[in-house]
Amino acid sequence: MASRSNGKRRPVVVVDMDGTIADASRREAKFLRRKKKDWPGFFRDMENDPPIKEVLARVHELSKTHDIVILTGRPEKYRPQTESWLKKHKVNPVEVLMRCSGDSRPDFEAKGALMRDLLERRTVVMALDDRAPVCDSYRELGVYVVQIQSDSLNQVVNETYRLNTE
Ligand SMILES: [Mg+2]
Repeated sequence: MASRSNGKRRPVVVVDMDGTIADASRREAKFLRRKKKDWPGFFRDMENDPPIKEVLARVHELSKTHDIVILTGRPEKYRPQTESWLKKHKVNPVEVLMRCSGDSRPDFEAKGALMRDLLERRTVVMALDDRAPVCDSYRELGVYVVQIQSDSLNQVVNETYRLNTE
């Protein structure tokens, strides 16, 4: 994980996982078909999510001139699967920020708090995320946001997460 270029820190681009560079729609459909919400099952399979190629290509391009920080609402305990997916798809972030264990706040609150902490340490020039409430929370912090078109299932799953913690 290289964070320096010519001795200077590069500006940061913050990138989300699910619905932004990782296509979780197959897992989401399976999850929503079941009556009893199986969160561990939902998260377990994440390593096999296909990439969202168009966005991933932009992230690869941006990584030539910027530091990439992954900021995801995935719980911290899925770090190994998340880092393995990133490695497989040649994303080399300087940091992977994840939802802390036991944090069941809505994604925009949890991710907004992680962004706020990051802004104290780094210059963030852009964030890529697919969730409107998350994008709004970043904009409120003064971050320039590019919103990725989200699949509708992703919205439903995120709203469900608020009501059912692990
Ligand atoms: Mg997302």
